[in-house]
Amino acid sequence: MEEIRSQTCVKFRNTNKKGARIIQEKEDDGCWSNLGASNGALNIPNNCENSIGHEILHSLGILHEQARTDRDAYLHVNKTGNNFNINPSSSIVSPFEYASSMMYYSDKDLYPVVGDYNNTMGLRQLTFYDIYMVNKLYSCSCPKNLECKNRGYTNPSSCDTCICPDGFTGKLCTELKNDIYSSSIEWKTISRKVKNGTLHEYDYIKPMAGKSLEIYVESQSFYPDYNWCGGGSIEIKYMADIRITNPISCGGFNLYKNIRTSFNDPTVIVYRGGISEATYNIRFRSV
Ligand SMILES: [Zn+2]
Repeated sequence: MEEIRSQTCVKFRNTNKKGARIIQEKEDDGCWSNLGASNGALNIPNNCENSIGHEILHSLGILHEQARTDRDAYLHVNKTGNNFNINPSSSIVSPFEYASSMMYYSDKDLYPVVGDYNNTMGLRQLTFYDIYMVNKLYSCSCPKNLECKNRGYTNPSSCDTCICPDGFTGKLCTELKNDIYSSSIEWKTISRKVKNGTLHEYDYIKPMAGKSLEIYVESQSFYPDYNWCGGGSIEIKYMADIRITNPISCGGFNLYKNIRTSFNDPTVIVYRGGISEATYNIRFRSV
């Protein structure tokens, strides 16, 4: 709730009044929410930690990614029913994002058109675009916009700072969260050993002036679970839209064993950690 409050103009307060938008209920063990901004009931028992953001977004009226009218370009959906049908009245204010907290896990009935995204679905973490969607749908804004860099935008909850794409920080999104590696035309290696319990770790690679980067993962050792990336994962943000979550590589399958080309300066690499120690080697060069 704090993640949403601190980055949007949506405010939450406790009330006993009738007609409250979110009514917290403890009817059963399920994590669920009614959809919509009027009388939304939200059921979040203690085992819902991973789904709280998802359920709160529902109560603010936000639909599943698979309900978007553009979803057939991104997903194979072999099921029908409430949670699997397109909602023709859904308003699209951000790009389709496999990593959205409004996306289910991939399975035989719901899986990505681009196989790269198999493990990216179902992360259940609020993404930059999840928050962006709330701000757009509720027309959140500031009296004056800051000159945010790296595709950040002025934070409607705190108009003297920017909301930054993952990997960037500081008032205007000009700061990085770790050292930056310079590249050359020779291959270089980043070798990482990340401790158990590390939530996020970042690396940054700078291309030589006027050049792009070639990047691949030489080896990775993560908790060997294919369907759940909670045991550690890496994301190379090589796509042109630096706001969006790129495919996530985890478990025993190295998604990035072949070279990806990035024009981003810097290119951000995100490690999401969890329940075990992880190691990985990333190779890169300017071309
Ligand atoms: Zn849902």
